[in-house]
Amino acid sequence: MTIMMRNKRPSEICVICGRNAATSWDHLPPDGMFPKPKPTDPIEVPACEACNSGSSDYDQIFQVFIGIAAGHGAVGERMFKGHVSKILKSNKRLTRSIAQTKRKVELRTRGGIIFGRADAVMQDSTSYDAVIERIIRGLHFYHTGYILGDKVDIKIKWHRELTKAHIGLTSSWPLGSVGGERFIYKYAFFEEEPLASAWLLQFFGRTWSSGTILPKKRND
Ligand SMILES: [Zn+2]
Repeated sequence: MTIMMRNKRPSEICVICGRNAATSWDHLPPDGMFPKPKPTDPIEVPACEACNSGSSDYDQIFQVFIGIAAGHGAVGERMFKGHVSKILKSNKRLTRSIAQTKRKVELRTRGGIIFGRADAVMQDSTSYDAVIERIIRGLHFYHTGYILGDKVDIKIKWHRELTKAHIGLTSSWPLGSVGGERFIYKYAFFEEEPLASAWLLQFFGRTWSSGTILPKKRND
């Protein structure tokens, strides 16, 4: 039987890539996403150096977009003004790449409302999806003990609002959280298929993403 430490689940292999040796505890969601005070109850899973959320561009882009989305709520605005602008000031290359994405998206949107623009950026963003995928891989391991590695396909979607169908489908799913309501998630596992799961994640009470994990189809 595996002994569960509080909010931690050990493994010698990185639970994100399923290949390299685990060398550190990775926080779910990435610690850098939270302005101070940091949550006292992060979920931690073992990861290799390459997979661990550090100061990679992916993580910083993710934080900026979460900040833009959350910034339209009263709490988000207070929390993110300093945090996001600090990242943008310290990473000029990132600022440029975001500016480029925004321009591209502006061509497609009608209103010019910043939230709508940010939302469109999110849907386009491979960085954003990559961070969500990492969180979901980590959470899948945390709850089941299974390392997904390259055995699955993961699909991520972003939602500005949840539909009635989402709410109905997920109403009976268990709920998890980190940092109070700053990060909440719902999940479903399937007894007959340990490599499948479904996820609904919410950041700062604003922006939702859903993920489905399914085993890769074998061709042999
Ligand atoms: Zn790894």
